[in-house]
Amino acid sequence: MNIQWAASPNFTVGRSGKKIIAIVDHITAGLMPGTLSWMRNPTAKASAHYLVTKAGEIYQLVKDEDTAWHAGEVKKPNWPLYDGSNPNRYTIGIEHEALGGESLTEAQYQATLELHRMLVKRYSIPIDSDHIIGHNRIDAVNRPNDPGPLFPWQRLLTNLTGQGSKYKPGIVTVPIILPTGKIEGPILNIDGSDRTYVPVRELAEALGYKVRWDEITRTVTIR
Ligand SMILES: [Zn+2]
Repeated sequence: MNIQWAASPNFTVGRSGKKIIAIVDHITAGLMPGTLSWMRNPTAKASAHYLVTKAGEIYQLVKDEDTAWHAGEVKKPNWPLYDGSNPNRYTIGIEHEALGGESLTEAQYQATLELHRMLVKRYSIPIDSDHIIGHNRIDAVNRPNDPGPLFPWQRLLTNLTGQGSKYKPGIVTVPIILPTGKIEGPILNIDGSDRTYVPVRELAEALGYKVRWDEITRTVTIR
């Protein structure tokens, strides 16, 4: 995992003696490169520890051991671990480049998954919906859609616990018995569920179909 350092002046040194207990996920409601430069602008008075872009790049703006300014306003919180003090002191903030209503790109999802994996391990953060939360859980009034309904909570928690796959790590193939013989298909854990992918030509021809590959349109046609 490649993390690029992009220092922001918007932070408080140290964590007032608090331990990191949770990750707060956000969306920026802005796009690169403006959203990164804004979080590095003193006028913003806002930051996060990390920013994960649509391209799957990870920037670190504030050191983990310092307090980033990402979830300091508490309004109608719905978070049992809120202790009455500023949540910035005991959380890690991760911003995701996305406009309201957008979902993460696949590259962005994979990058944030790796980042979450590293952080939960480093700080012994339990993998559940009280320790990995959205900004809306801390400020339900001004941030009801941060990170919004399309944020992949279930996929993230499933992938972090590894419960989604019995077949990890790496690619595992299983035999697929066809009328014409046996082929191997890889099992991939795409959306938290294991799915077997089959070589399309072998399968279709074994079932009596003709397969055509069009180099120009890069399309497979099965008749
Ligand atoms: Zn936020």
